[in-house]
This record gives sequence, structure tokens and C-alpha cells, in this order.
Amino acid sequence: MEITPIVFQEEKRSVAIEIDHSPYVDILKATNNHGLANEFAQSFKGGVNLRSLQKGDKLVLLFQQKRRLGKSFGSIKIDVSMLETAKRENYIFYYNENYYNQKGEELDNFLLTKPVNYTRISSVFTQKRWHPVLKKYRAHLGIDYAAPTGTPVRSAGNGKVIFVGTKGGYGKTIEVSHDGSYKTLYAHLNGFAKGIRGGQRVKQNQVIGYVGNTGMSTGPHLHFGLYRSNVAINPASVVKVAKSALGGKELKAFLSYTEDLKAQVHVALQSHEEPFKEEDFNGFYSLEKSNS
Ligand SMILES: [Zn+2]
Repeated sequence: MEITPIVFQEEKRSVAIEIDHSPYVDILKATNNHGLANEFAQSFKGGVNLRSLQKGDKLVLLFQQKRRLGKSFGSIKIDVSMLETAKRENYIFYYNENYYNQKGEELDNFLLTKPVNYTRISSVFTQKRWHPVLKKYRAHLGIDYAAPTGTPVRSAGNGKVIFVGTKGGYGKTIEVSHDGSYKTLYAHLNGFAKGIRGGQRVKQNQVIGYVGNTGMSTGPHLHFGLYRSNVAINPASVVKVAKSALGGKELKAFLSYTEDLKAQVHVALQSHEEPFKEEDFNGFYSLEKSNS
């Protein structure tokens, strides 16, 4: 009896494509690799607003994967994803089992887009919209989530409560400050969670209040605002908010690691090579077999 050890290869590959439909669909079309498309979606979840991408924007992935007998197995590790949109390169690096942006800030699931279990989005962020109560155009500096009165509202991230009370047209409002000069605002609340007061630390996902219809509001909903250095930004378009940042020696090591990866991304961008499709590997394998 012969014992054949299970041999597998560890591949390091790159994919460089242009956005045609959406990253997920385009990755699938180019590679037929579901694991890769899923892992990408996971890493960019809540990252760059994928809906703001334009046809022709560029996407580069450098990733590692194991393969045995022509078939991939195990999880895929995307060392770096780069999405170039509006002439800006947006990077996400996998480093020490975590995702980081290019400044070495750890990216967490900030839950930016879902501090409440909503039924629908009734208003999006805009600098100019028709206001149904004021009957004039007014900027809407947040996202409105329609939800029944009493639905729990959760803090979008770890932070400190800096305001609890009534705030003009916003009605009953809570503000939470987060690391990196970010602030979130939750308005039109029906009430506050028991014990919530100014100065208190809250955890991500902690219930801080309940959906209501207080202030200038036409129906129960949560108005969710996000601010960076007190300037309103679109919660749906911001790059994931940093959780903790590397510093000192660690940051230095990270930056030299990522510099090398960035250079590889630029090489891949210029290579114009057709990405491998999953079935190509099966072809390779049958070729090897018939030769042996
Ligand atoms: Zn609103």
C-alpha cells in the first residue's frame, strides 16, 4: 500500500480589475472565486461607500489561498485591497489578524449604518433636500431610519455620552463622542435608556435610547448623525472609523510592510493581465496528471 501525502500549494496572487457592475459581481466574473468575493465584501463592509463607485474605478486585491488537487480550500486571506475611486486610493490591509487602514488605524465594525433595527431609510444624507415640515430646502445632515416607537437605539461605537436632553428640532437627543474626534448624534428619541447621562462611557451596541417622534418630526424615526471634528459627514460614505491606532515601533513596522504591498498593488495595476479563473486551476491539475 502506498501512502500519498496530501500536498497543497500556498498561492499568493493578485487580481486587478475595473469596476463594471459592483466589486462583488466583478470579482466573481473575473475569477469565479466565491470565497474571494465574500472575503472582500467582509473586509470592506462599512468601508468606502461601494455605491458611490463609478464604472472604470479600479480594484486590486493581493491575496493568499491554499490549493490541493486543483481545488482551493481553507479561508482566503486578502493581504491588501485597494479601491481607486475619484482618483483616490483607498487601502485596507490585513495585519496581525486585523484590518487596518493605511495610517495603521484598526478598523472595526463601527455599525455606522445600523444603530437601530429599522424598517426603511426614510431620508438620506444630503446638503440640500425639501423639508416637509419647514416647507423649504434644507440640508439633511444625517440618515433617517424609520422604525416603530420604542425600538432600541444602540451606540454606534465605544465612547462617552456628551449630551442627553432636548435639542431644538431634534427633540430628545443623545450625543456620543468617540476616538479620533468622531461624534454620533441620535435624535427624535422617545426616551433615554435607564441611567444614561452625560459623561458616561458607553459600549458599542449598548442601548442608549428608544426611537420616537419628538422635536420636528413627521413620524417615528431615528435621525442618526456622524461628525468628524464637529463637521457633519455622511455616515454611509465614510471609511470605517478607526478603533485603535498602531504607534511607535509597531507603526514603523506596519508602514514598511504596507509600503511593499502598495508597490505590489501598483505593479498589478499596470500589468493588464487577465485574472485566473478558478476553472483554470482545474485545467492545470488535469494537465499535470496526464503528464505524470
Ligand atoms: Zn433626520
